[in-house]
Amino acid sequence: MTSKILEIQDLTVSFDGFRALNHLTFSMNPGELRVIIGPNGAGKTTFLDVITGKVQPTEGRVLFQGKDIRKIPEYRIARLGVGRKFQTPRVYLNLTVAENLDLAVNRKKSVWGTLMGQATGAEQRSVGGLLETIGLTPKAHLAAALLSHGEKQRLEIGMLVAQSPTLLLVDEPVAGLTDEETENVGDLLLALAESHSIIVIEHDMEFVRQIARKVTVLHQGSVLCEGNMDQIQNDPKVIEVYLGEAPSLSPQQFKILRTVAAVAAADGKISETEMAIILDNLSQVFKGSGSDPQHLRQELQDYLLQGVEVDFANLTEEIPKQEDRELVLRLSQEIVAVHRQEPEPFWEWQAYQELLRGLNLPITAISVDEDGD
Ligand code: ADP
Ligand code: MG
Repeated sequence: MTSKILEIQDLTVSFDGFRALNHLTFSMNPGELRVIIGPNGAGKTTFLDVITGKVQPTEGRVLFQGKDIRKIPEYRIARLGVGRKFQTPRVYLNLTVAENLDLAVNRKKSVWGTLMGQATGAEQRSVGGLLETIGLTPKAHLAAALLSHGEKQRLEIGMLVAQSPTLLLVDEPVAGLTDEETENVGDLLLALAESHSIIVIEHDMEFVRQIARKVTVLHQGSVLCEGNMDQIQNDPKVIEVYLGEAPSLSPQQFKILRTVAAVAAADGKISETEMAIILDNLSQVFKGSGSDPQHLRQELQDYLLQGVEVDFANLTEEIPKQEDRELVLRLSQEIVAVHRQEPEPFWEWQAYQELLRGLNLPITAISVDEDGD
């Protein structure tokens, strides 16, 4: 018996000879929250279709809790504990929020619990508890039709949870949501992850950053790479897939770029002046291997537009060469200097303080000319 909740071995799915999934291998531990990303057509939805039994593999195996679920019909896989939330909400618009949840709770009870003579007490989720979880208690008696798109998404996630699935599959839950709704859905998934195994497919990188622990990147039907958000974002293969061309920077250079950019972005945006400092300097420092500086500048900029978020705590490990850390320090000082007129402590200043702790450079290297002389 395997201890994995999901184990996928050498899975291929062909549609008339076209391989939507191509020798894909994947596994996941119980209790994990896994995010799967990848460009359009990478095979993400097909991947979920195979797990739920909607699509049959051409080759390979899918083991759910150690059990081979190939050839098991869709409705039985659902009963085994695989719940899926589709991209568009499927709630009963003319029923209230509470009625929708009640239906979901009782669907589980009547079809499964009663038939199998199971006691539902301990497992049974109460409508009240579910309302609380999805943050819709104040709207319990409102018709679902009156909910916002984001609230409908949360309701549907609640309806899914009502059926006590062991594994939750969630396909693009924040497509088309406002920033605030996106964050709410993220918080909900993080809360559910405490007691469920969850796979989330997502495009929105801000959202992925909010919830991701371990990320799997799919490309052309196979796993391109796996790791935490930081590893993924610095992986040249991933950058190539997302930007459509091979990056001319090394992972180490990307790390330098992102760290400096994270100081500049501390107030939520990289201003034109800050962008110029970063691009002018780094396109010079990084050129060399024959790449056109103008092209390199564009590449750096494209990359920054994907967003930056850096944990400053482990910089000595992540940027092992002192020379590189000094470069980060120097450029960060230039960025801080841009804000010299602002009252302290401005955001960049705070980021800079954290950066200093993370860089662990000799104290002599640290001097910001605060007075401008
Ligand atoms: P993603 O969700 O990552 O965008 P999909 O899994 O939807 O990707 O699709 C992967 C590839 O398989 C795409 O090229 C798509 O056109 C193709 N595909 C998906 N479903 C079918 C199908 N039923 N018949 C033929 N081709 C399909
Ligand atoms: Mg899809």
